[in-house]
Amino acid sequence: MRKIDPTLIGFDIDGVVADTVEAFFRLAKQRHGIDKFTAAHITEFDVAKCLPIAPQIIDAIFDTLLEAPIEADMKPMPDAVAVLTMLSHHAPLTFITARPLQQPIAEWLEYILGPATFARTRLIAMGDHDKKSTYLKKLGIQYFVDDRAETCINLKEQGFSPVVFNQPWNQGQHNLPCVSSWREIGALCT
Ligand SMILES: [Mg+2]
Repeated sequence: MRKIDPTLIGFDIDGVVADTVEAFFRLAKQRHGIDKFTAAHITEFDVAKCLPIAPQIIDAIFDTLLEAPIEADMKPMPDAVAVLTMLSHHAPLTFITARPLQQPIAEWLEYILGPATFARTRLIAMGDHDKKSTYLKKLGIQYFVDDRAETCINLKEQGFSPVVFNQPWNQGQHNLPCVSSWREIGALCT
């Protein structure tokens, strides 16, 4: 892949910036006593389709991660904060998430990035996986890092340059450029 201008890249949050799955399994264990699964068991984006966990438990955990990510101790992916901080010195950071609630994830971003970096951040939470292109266009973003293969394929079809963040649930589902770590993202952008 050729070098990416930091002014042209945006990021999804869950499964890319946030280690949402670690928090999911930790809450499943702490609150529901479920501890027989790992991220490798999540072979599809829709967790309910690949984990034999009651849908109401899955929903309860995701509601907690949606409404109270700081209290749930949701963690950033390794090196995400260092690379985002570095990139924020080159360009404003852009995050577009399908989360429908803006406030809790804005607070989480400020919490992990710190107020100075957060002040150089644009965040869009719009509740729809398939409308990200509208916002990318508006914000002048060409490259977008996301862990949902369907979203990336859709963005590619619309002329954007998606980068898939490798996760067990997107393996073998696309032929797009991909990365496995934030170090790789940093190297691509600098
Ligand atoms: Mg995601």
